[in-house]
Amino acid sequence: MDNVFYRNIKKEYTEVDRGEGIYLYDTDGNRYIDACSGAAVSNLGHAHPKVLKAMADQAEKVAFSHLSRWTSAPIKELANLVAGLTPGSLNKLYLVSGGSEATEAALKMARQYFLERDGKSGKYKVISRWKSYHGNTIGALSMTGDKRRKKYAPLLLDFPHIAPAYCYRCPFGRNPDTCGVDCAYDLERALKMEGSDTVAAFIAEPVGGAACGAIVPHKDYFRIVRQICDHYDILVIDDEVMTGFGRTGAMFAMEDWDVVPDLICAAKGMSAGYSPLGGVIAKDEIYNAFKQGSGAFVHGHTYGGNPLSAAVAVAVVRTLVEQNLAANSRNVGEYLLTQLRERLLPFWFVGDVRGKGLMQGVELVKSKATKEPFPVYLGIAEKITVTLMKHGIIVYPGSGNADGENGDQFLLAPPLIITKDQADELIEAMVSGFADFEQQIGI
Ligand code: PLP
Repeated sequence: MDNVFYRNIKKEYTEVDRGEGIYLYDTDGNRYIDACSGAAVSNLGHAHPKVLKAMADQAEKVAFSHLSRWTSAPIKELANLVAGLTPGSLNKLYLVSGGSEATEAALKMARQYFLERDGKSGKYKVISRWKSYHGNTIGALSMTGDKRRKKYAPLLLDFPHIAPAYCYRCPFGRNPDTCGVDCAYDLERALKMEGSDTVAAFIAEPVGGAACGAIVPHKDYFRIVRQICDHYDILVIDDEVMTGFGRTGAMFAMEDWDVVPDLICAAKGMSAGYSPLGGVIAKDEIYNAFKQGSGAFVHGHTYGGNPLSAAVAVAVVRTLVEQNLAANSRNVGEYLLTQLRERLLPFWFVGDVRGKGLMQGVELVKSKATKEPFPVYLGIAEKITVTLMKHGIIVYPGSGNADGENGDQFLLAPPLIITKDQADELIEAMVSGFADFEQQIGI
């Protein structure tokens, strides 16, 4: 008997038995390459001995103490470690239990910041982008810009959304030679329309993940965004829930745009799937406004800052740094992307292969020439995911084609420990999976 209320009730789920390194095993003994680290989470792979030991050691000492009264050595150590990895004055770590809690916390922090700083504030909106994903709680969904919003409307606040930085399907009809980074200037248009005195922040994923399959903005995108936000007194919230802690080849993806945000949201890779954890990293200036103002951020979640998750994250972050896994992500990521472009783009239904470091996306289309998507009812992203699983690879299907305007896509995000030989194994399995899929859909 199975009494689990599954997320997708009509889907068949495979029962996981164990994991080791980049591989997962089901209860029938089949082995799969975990080519998406769950949902870009298991950055150190599975059953990493150092993390398991840190976890057992901390559990023996104390697993839980509530933040209303207690601090602990692991949370202090984690905050110090993270402050050493972030740019500028991004030094203060507020702990929660996951990514949606982190984006919700950032939204509230941005609102409260202006209140603390100025004594009053009408700044309450957060501008985000279409084709974005910022979490599944209803405040986070109000910022999200994809199909997940639809069933839950009206949202708490229908926040303004601007155009995505989606070069393969430029919303402004440009191509790389004529690009004027209009998608960044779209923020100024929205600010003028909304009135910047009503806007607290702009939130964006540096490399788009769950809603778009690894779209990478133009190299000038975040510099322009930062200038606009400074001009209009708006905070920049950098949602690094998926990209943070080495995923795109830098410790935080925004480093590659050489821009310092005001708040960073982190989760997934910070504890790499060994224990639920999320956080918001705030600039000292923001923290000080709270300190000199009311002295409190009213946002307690029971498990936020539990010592067990923090001890796990300390072990994870130390291992990431010691093994230089961000560099491995950049190097193996570049190799993987080049190979996948060479081997997958010849398939007639592959429109785009893109990404940064070990965060890559494949977009499937009905016509390469016109970029026409497959009809939504065919559920191509889900079908290819099932086919690839038969070939021993787990990928993460995206939600991109919900409206039939974009191609189906999926994410590849293998653990950052992946070696070049394992990347070759993944490429060969992908190519045979795609050849099989080509047979299924016909020409
Ligand atoms: N923000 C981004 C960019 C994400 O990718 C995700 C999850 O995929 C979230 C927020 C929500 O995180 P969680 O699923 O831990 O609530």
